[in-house]
Amino acid sequence: MKISQAAGNICTVSATPTQKQESDKSSDSKIIYLPGTDCIIKPQASLSAFTSYRVGGAAEWYVAPRNLEALQASLNYAKEHNLTVTTLGAGSNLLVSDRGLPGLVIATRHLRHSHFDPETGLLTVAAGESIPSLAWEAAQLGWQGLEWAVGIPGTVGGAVVMNAGAHNSCIADILVSAEVFSPDGKLETLTPAQLGYSYRTSLLQGSDRIITQATLQLQPGADPAKVLALTKQHKQHRLSTQPYNFPSCGSVFRNPKPYTAGWLIEQTGLKGYQIGGAQVAQLHANFIVNRGGAKASDIFCLIRHIQQKVQEHWSILLEPEVKMMGEFQAACG
Ligand SMILES: Cc1cc2nc3c(=O)[nH]c(=O)nc-3n(C[C@H](O)[C@H](O)[C@H](O)COP(=O)(O)OP(=O)(O)OC[C@H]3O[C@@H](n4cnc5c(N)ncnc54)[C@H](O)[C@@H]3O)c2cc1C
Repeated sequence: MKISQAAGNICTVSATPTQKQESDKSSDSKIIYLPGTDCIIKPQASLSAFTSYRVGGAAEWYVAPRNLEALQASLNYAKEHNLTVTTLGAGSNLLVSDRGLPGLVIATRHLRHSHFDPETGLLTVAAGESIPSLAWEAAQLGWQGLEWAVGIPGTVGGAVVMNAGAHNSCIADILVSAEVFSPDGKLETLTPAQLGYSYRTSLLQGSDRIITQATLQLQPGADPAKVLALTKQHKQHRLSTQPYNFPSCGSVFRNPKPYTAGWLIEQTGLKGYQIGGAQVAQLHANFIVNRGGAKASDIFCLIRHIQQKVQEHWSILLEPEVKMMGEFQAACG
């Protein structure tokens, strides 16, 4: 029997039912094997390894399906056992509570496939594919349209939900359609108009639909050297202006136009302000970085502190862009 249990990789189980039963006895007897799939549901799985902040408690149950059948089986399991479902991409825009998450956490990062169609310029890609990897791959082929996305360390699913964007472009500009599992288990294809896109938001936020794949319109036929040069330029710009050397979730707050959140926070004198292991980044004030040993509650309280101080100075309530999941204390010391 082969079981690979690297971080984020608990679905690579291959075994006969008899071998599985033996494994049940010798390892964690609570692990659940989804019938008809090569996928397991794991109890009390720490989520800190699956978020870019590197904080967060355990999922009551965790599964990372590799295909639609396993995803469907996971959803069926949740329904049969009356479990709430939470979907995770790469966890790069999440603050998960130290108390963890109830129910079943479904990570879509292992849903993988991509197809570049040179005739049409359409890129059809599974929800778990990495956005930066796709940006580099497209650039090497001389396909334009994803150069802006190279510094966004999320998955296709997360980008479609968040309407991820940078350098004056965003996913809504290139999305042709998204395939989603609806709560009743049906696969639907939705257009950008149905997703109600605006700045860093979509109707998928807070909904219980799960994205399985997306189709993006790119422009093939350009000189790969030129597309690569622009992609590298964007990556370089971000490395020099944003703190990629410590765990973070990128920008914490939406920009309250015409201001940027970073400028307001910097002008409020909060750069470098720290609660526990969580710090307002010196390089970019709209980033909170985990300087080591931060708890989700440190980050949460720093978010509340920034909101309070910026409101006092500017009468503007900053709205978090980061998605907070689970329970957080209302009061911070
Ligand atoms: C260093 C750094 C830089 C960043 N820079 C940018 C930037 O320039 N621009 C930008 O927009 N963002 C940026 N981000 C934030 C983040 O990378 C994006 O929001 C990204 O799109 C999140 O994708 P994800 O796969 O990590 O989603 P997650 O963080 O895992 O999830 C985000 C939301 O999407 C939902 N979700 C994820 N996958 C699915 C799915 N398959 N089906 C249904 N729901 C799903 C989750 O439930 C959650 O509500 C940055 C983050 C970091 C750490």
